[in-house]
Amino acid sequence: MKKLILVLLAVVTFSCNGNAQKKEQKGDVAFKIEKSDADWKSELSPEAYQVLRHAATEPPFSSDLNKIKDPGTFVCAACGNELYTTARKFESGTGWPSFDKPVSDDALYIGSDKKLGYARDEVICADCGGHLGHVFNDGPRETTGKRYCMNGVAMEFKPSKK
Ligand SMILES: [Zn+2]
Repeated sequence: MKKLILVLLAVVTFSCNGNAQKKEQKGDVAFKIEKSDADWKSELSPEAYQVLRHAATEPPFSSDLNKIKDPGTFVCAACGNELYTTARKFESGTGWPSFDKPVSDDALYIGSDKKLGYARDEVICADCGGHLGHVFNDGPRETTGKRYCMNGVAMEFKPSKK
């Protein structure tokens, strides 16, 4: 009986370890830019580091990027990879910068995140493997129907040159 409980405990511990699972999945993919955790930590702001490297979520309505309407490009805060243009940005009301389409399909890597107990499509920078946010199917129906829900702290805005 004791043995059985131990086995059960081991199974539960293993299957609850979502992080290890995710790392395994990400590990299957080779990203162009690979850096040590220590390097990322020293290069990024503490908030950006938590989001990009540890898949944290910034508080809603906390990012200045929510307000941006000027033409330009949103790039990955870690590596500068071009992700979205202002033309594809829309007001989702969620408090996170939202887009209906990336600059190109190559800009993003879509992974699977089961942190909340169900699968969500995780949006990852295709160049550096940084966590950016999630994508949902409740975006504007008149365009793509997608809602790329981004953490503003994981991006930088580059205004178009006039
Ligand atoms: Zn990146």
